[in-house]
Amino acid sequence: MDIEDLKTRILAGERRALARAITLVESGRPDHRAQALALLEALKGHDREALRVGLSGTPGVGKSTFIEAFGMMLTAQGLKVAVLAVDPSSARSGGSILGDKTRMERLSRDKNAFIRPSPSQSQLGGVARRTREAIDLCEAAGFDVVLIETVGVGQSETMVAEMSDLFLLLLAPAGGDELQGVKRGIMEMADILLVNKADGDLKTTAVRTCADYAGALRLLRKRPQDPEGFPKAMTVSALEDSGLETAWEEMQSLAEWRRETGHFAGRRAEQARFWFEAEVRERLLARLKREPVKGAMEALAREVEAGGQTPSAAAEELLRDYLQMG
Ligand code: GDP
Repeated sequence: MDIEDLKTRILAGERRALARAITLVESGRPDHRAQALALLEALKGHDREALRVGLSGTPGVGKSTFIEAFGMMLTAQGLKVAVLAVDPSSARSGGSILGDKTRMERLSRDKNAFIRPSPSQSQLGGVARRTREAIDLCEAAGFDVVLIETVGVGQSETMVAEMSDLFLLLLAPAGGDELQGVKRGIMEMADILLVNKADGDLKTTAVRTCADYAGALRLLRKRPQDPEGFPKAMTVSALEDSGLETAWEEMQSLAEWRRETGHFAGRRAEQARFWFEAEVRERLLARLKREPVKGAMEALAREVEAGGQTPSAAAEELLRDYLQMG
């Protein structure tokens, strides 16, 4: 594959080249991996900056309806929008549920939009790397907004929040009891809570739910990366296309404030460190499971069991002799 050519075409914003490059970063083949790294390296240093927006919510809350309506609104303003998905369930089922083209039919036909379904990979670590790299590729291709969608199930949310400049949580109108169902940790990650389906019969409930969430947000610890009034809760209707412009204005004003105060760049720097450390950990763990380290570890473990070595001395020996460290 001609990496220089692919690079030129990505920088020119060619969607087919972008799709091919994402396929490359998704591949597990060692030669593809080497090409992917060469491509990402070659693309470094462009001065494009997309707004990376993470979006989470439980199935049925309206994520695809929201992304379609929101995406269409952005492209109508002349912005280029990419949609990526992180679907933890696809790891198990082998299929992809999120980001399916059929879920966002109108948006997928829009020439200023790019939708990429979730890959089916077995490890969250692999999905994290692929998504991070796909975000970089979309940014290089000149997309203004990259939406990263995930289902509301624990780990994948943390992962998406660690790749996003802004994190949105989409919620359904609910009774008071259900409000408790949103885990505190997830609330703490969110910059904006969007209570969807604020239309028709559900409108009154949505407005009340929103007020409840706003109250809950006020009880959270103040974060340095928030201007006055954030994180905030708002109502929207993806179906009726209402509240979306206001939500976009809020996102922009938050991003602007963070840019001006250095929190935007600061967050990206922290994220880069986070992923670097995560990769190191993951690779070390992988090495522990491979020979000869695996066998040596087992042998040392037996010695420790038999009282021949202390746990600390054995650990030091393993790291020194088999992982060549310190
Ligand atoms: P996802 O599973 O989170 O992607 O949810 P979907 O976008 O597939 O929506 C689930 C259901 O909720 C569908 O029947 C949608 O038509 C409906 N829905 C989505 N957004 C709204 C909304 O703003 N108002 C109402 N009333 N229904 C909505």
